Amino acid sequence: MRLCYACSKEPAEIFIDYSKRWLCINCFLNYYERKVKRTIEAYRMIKPNEKIGVAVSGGKDSTTLLYVLKKLYPSLNLTAIHLNLGVKEYSDHCNEVLRSFIKKLNVPLIEFNLIKQLGFSIHNFEKTRHGRKICSICGTIKRYLLNKIAYENKLDKLATGHNLDDIVEVIFNCYVQGDIVQLARVNPVLPGNHPKLVARIKPLCMMTEMENLLYASYAELPFRSLSCPLSKGNRSLKNKKFINAIILKEMPTFKHMLFKSYVKRIAPYINPPLEKIFECEICGMPTSKNICAFCRLTKIIKPLPQ
Ligand code: SF4
Ligand code: ZN
Repeated sequence: MRLCYACSKEPAEIFIDYSKRWLCINCFLNYYERKVKRTIEAYRMIKPNEKIGVAVSGGKDSTTLLYVLKKLYPSLNLTAIHLNLGVKEYSDHCNEVLRSFIKKLNVPLIEFNLIKQLGFSIHNFEKTRHGRKICSICGTIKRYLLNKIAYENKLDKLATGHNLDDIVEVIFNCYVQGDIVQLARVNPVLPGNHPKLVARIKPLCMMTEMENLLYASYAELPFRSLSCPLSKGNRSLKNKKFINAIILKEMPTFKHMLFKSYVKRIAPYINPPLEKIFECEICGMPTSKNICAFCRLTKIIKPLPQ
């Protein structure tokens, strides 16, 4: 029987491929929490007395993020924010999974329902000219609303569950496309450069998707079992599949190397041209144009049939 590398007592169950170590369940959970804490401290993500909003979707990453933040910093002022996107079956399922979990954690929850509060859902974009890029539209809507909710509730920072795989996929895509502006947004901490833009932090940026799945499973956290039906053709999923299939077989350390080399050697030299920030003529939120992307998008859709 193989024993755990860390405690040398318990049977090892989990293999950490990039460090080539086998751990038992308990040592894995401890290793995970220590690594998240080190990341938060290394990037100075949280200051004492700050109010932190946590974007929760019902998936394994954001559920783990909320749970681990509460465990590591029990007195931290946390507020969970959940957007119900109105995606058939999927959104209600996510909502159900989240509610009882957040209640148990004793964290206040702000729920925002697109259909109830704005009269449309992500489905409304399917038949527009943006229909083939539905995830990118959904991303714009989510970023806008999460920031607005965090701003209106006077939260100091917004934490998201982006994991190492998410970040490496964006870096990879930006390198391929030569997209410096997007690349500058990959950093683990994004300061709000306007009074109405809330700073963003990514405490799970050093944890792989697999580590999050293992943590959520072994810590017995509830998370959604359905996939979003609109995710077909999603570019980021295709890129992740490519990175995992081609590169990782030969080089398990690839994701960590790419991320570290970006943060240490590339990010300090990226100075994308500073965009002038206006306030949207329709909603008053920050934008680089007269009308923000959210208001431009919502203008092109028709309300859902009742
Ligand atoms: Fe939105 Fe795409 Fe995610 Fe579905 S898969 S929730 S459409 S980003
Ligand atoms: Zn607007």
